[in-house]
Amino acid sequence: MSDLSASPAGVQSPPARRAAADWILEFGSYDPADERRREALCTTGNGYFATRGAWAGSVAGDRHYPGTYLAGYYNRLTDMVGETDVENESLVNLPDWLPLTFAVDDGEWWTPDNLEVLEYGLELNVRRGVLTRRFRLRDESGRELRGVERRFVSMADPHLAGQTLAVTVVNWSGRLRIGSAVHGNVTNSGVERYRKLAGRHLTDVTPLVADGNLIVTAGTSQSHHRLSVGTRVAAARNGSVLDGWTTRTDGTSAYGELSVDVTVGDVVSVEKVAAIHGSRDVGISEPQVATELALESTPCLADLLEHHVLAWSQLWRRFDVELEEAYDGTLAALRLNIFHLLQTVSPHNAETDAGVPARGLHGEAYRGHVFWDELFVFPVLTLRLPELTRALLCYRHRRLPAARLAAREIGLQGAMYPWQSASDGREESQRLHLNPLSGHWTNDVTFRQRHVGLAVAYSMWQYVETTGDTEFLSDHAAEVIVEVARFFASLAEYDAGRDRFVIRGVVGPDEFHTAYPGRAEPGIDNNAYTNIMAAWLFGAGARALDQLPAWRRTELVESLGLRQEELNHWDELTRRIYVPFHDGVISQFEGYEQLTELDWPRYRDRYGDIRRLDRILEAEGRDVTAYQVSKQADVLMLLYLLPRRDLHVVMERLGYPLTAGIIRNTVEYYLARTCHGSSLSAVVHAWGLATLDPDRALAFLEQALHSDAGDALRTGTTAEGVHLAAMAGAADLLQRCFTGLTMTGGVLRFRPHWPARLGALEMVLRYRGHRTTVRITSTTVTVTIDPEPGPTVTVRCYGRTQRLKPGDSCRWTAPS
Ligand code: BGC
Repeated sequence: MSDLSASPAGVQSPPARRAAADWILEFGSYDPADERRREALCTTGNGYFATRGAWAGSVAGDRHYPGTYLAGYYNRLTDMVGETDVENESLVNLPDWLPLTFAVDDGEWWTPDNLEVLEYGLELNVRRGVLTRRFRLRDESGRELRGVERRFVSMADPHLAGQTLAVTVVNWSGRLRIGSAVHGNVTNSGVERYRKLAGRHLTDVTPLVADGNLIVTAGTSQSHHRLSVGTRVAAARNGSVLDGWTTRTDGTSAYGELSVDVTVGDVVSVEKVAAIHGSRDVGISEPQVATELALESTPCLADLLEHHVLAWSQLWRRFDVELEEAYDGTLAALRLNIFHLLQTVSPHNAETDAGVPARGLHGEAYRGHVFWDELFVFPVLTLRLPELTRALLCYRHRRLPAARLAAREIGLQGAMYPWQSASDGREESQRLHLNPLSGHWTNDVTFRQRHVGLAVAYSMWQYVETTGDTEFLSDHAAEVIVEVARFFASLAEYDAGRDRFVIRGVVGPDEFHTAYPGRAEPGIDNNAYTNIMAAWLFGAGARALDQLPAWRRTELVESLGLRQEELNHWDELTRRIYVPFHDGVISQFEGYEQLTELDWPRYRDRYGDIRRLDRILEAEGRDVTAYQVSKQADVLMLLYLLPRRDLHVVMERLGYPLTAGIIRNTVEYYLARTCHGSSLSAVVHAWGLATLDPDRALAFLEQALHSDAGDALRTGTTAEGVHLAAMAGAADLLQRCFTGLTMTGGVLRFRPHWPARLGALEMVLRYRGHRTTVRITSTTVTVTIDPEPGPTVTVRCYGRTQRLKPGDSCRWTAPS
């Protein structure tokens, strides 16, 4: 039997100074109330699929939710809510491959819920990608079993997973039963507020036993994907192989069972390989055939594990950072965040037509939808696995036709990317929102967040700036950037009174403000973030066209029917878009300052956790739109996306020169009025404060780093999936924000304001084909280019520019 805990030969062990604890997430006792959150945090996955860290054999319910999700596998179901048809597309929960259970004689399967828990521990090793659960349980007759269950989802072969269980008999003799199953009777029921709506996505669920292997094949009811989930098991007692498995199926599941006589000290161990295939896979005949073949041909678990750990060690060579004197838990949190990021999107995504689901492949919140959250994810990926960002941006490019259709349907031009999307790029935002506090369904118009297209275009531009991938600009990015610019140009209306262009009826990143109090039409006017980023985009659109070779520009202009007047109009818009201000502050939107001030101390006293003030106020019969209350950073997103220099250029051109005072006032103004109802808010506030108030910035960094794992009060929604953008955004705060790293104009620039409290940072970046090691302290920046052949790299720091050849290293010291 394999020992999943040992370090396989050939894999480099980490430098001794890295404490093992910095690679481990641990829970030392069984806590049923926290189990579902831990399941999300202990998810194992590989970008192709992921499985929550549930007790193997647990049943979906209030304590457990053993979900498995395959990237890009969505299905639509319809419900009636009142008189309204509500259609939802969801990431489908797959047949459960985890069950590996044990029982004594003819008794029930043992779980920590029906027995006395004497010991229990859960340990996720993020360096190796292995989850270990140790337990000692006792039944009412005093019989005890000690056990260790381990599992991994292979980072080397995206279709495979491995699991072992070793059970030791502590104090009795008799018959031990081991059970294994693949359960096809699953639904999507992981999020309580969706439970009133339909959740059965699988049809034609067909269990079978082939060569002793358990397989469940199923389809999705509307999208007609096929999926096949299978397992192969082998058992041993004290190291000697056990035969005698009996197998059976019922209407939806396949089961295997083995009975073995045991006595004190006996160890019964089971080894399982799981295989998953789907009809969207490339290079297969059909999913069931592929799953059967994988189960027959997959080598022993030890080999599978060795390749898996090797794949992770290679990923960590790109993604790991060293933080020498970081205060407690920072490095561990950072690694956990990067681990979950890579379990959601990994090199395997290059073969998958799937976007970045906001809550990972870790749960069913937001139904697995794709929002703008990729914006926070790409900076971490592009500097280490640029080809992955490229693949994920191609997912957006493939959905350009859907975005064009959406723009046309509301009478506008260009491409309108949807706020929430899933399979085919159409708008999937819910139209009714259930407030769990009041039980009321309210209209939801957050789909008016037109700014998502700005994020898509911005990400494409950033990717090209960072990588110099002009082919991508030429083949994909320029077309998207032009079409999104066209959309915003058609959305902007001329306001004769102001002699400026205005954008009306949108929702900004702060989703609380979906309308003006008392105004029937939804949306607010002149959201500063939307307007300023649109102005930035018109400039970027023109630059993107300029950077194309003449022949390609001609092709694109011809095929898009782009007219010179349009380009002239974009130029005009870079100078004439309206931006609202009040009292030396950029207004979040027109009229924000006229809304009522909230009595913050009163609400904090009364409710404690006021992150969802929208729901609190609605339950009180009030409307959050009437108040100066923001869910999350909105205007401050500008400081996050645009290097200060670029923001000044955009604003200067618009005729609204920014001063340091305006920026400081704006940060403080919204900080005082934001309840951080979104985990993204901490990232953006840290960014806004990094130069102004490092201590407060560090507090937000801490919040972002620990937003899922650190929720000791369990007030958050991590149980329904991790907050991927906050996880990646926290890593990016270390990578770009405090280092002042930008990659514009072919220059790698550092403007560090690195807090001494963080010690020294070392990270390895891929920049323009070079592996580049960066070391930052509060007083120095050292950049070393690997000695592989390649072009010279221009690096600028503390006002001094150096051109570094492969093999060069340069150190900059902060001016005193
Ligand atoms: C935030 C959005 C975010 C979404 C998905 C919402 O709560 O307001 O900005 O895109 O969650 O993470």
